[in-house]
Amino acid sequence: MKIFLDFEPCIECKSMMTELCDPKMLFADEKTRADGSAKFLRHLTYNHTEVVQAVISELPKQKKKEEFDFFK
Ligand SMILES: [Zn+2]
Repeated sequence: MKIFLDFEPCIECKSMMTELCDPKMLFADEKTRADGSAKFLRHLTYNHTEVVQAVISELPKQKKKEEFDFFK
């Protein structure tokens, strides 16, 4: 899942995004990649609530529930 957002990433965001785009992460197994994304999403959830709100409001309503359960 790719999300392009207009927000100011903090230092932590930048380091996590760099980590997620690192070739070793791109070629890592499913679980490692899922953990990396989950960590980043958790950070967004706790530190950038405006981003989460923006994502949720942009998603089609019928897809919101199944795709964003992990925000709970
Ligand atoms: Zn951040």
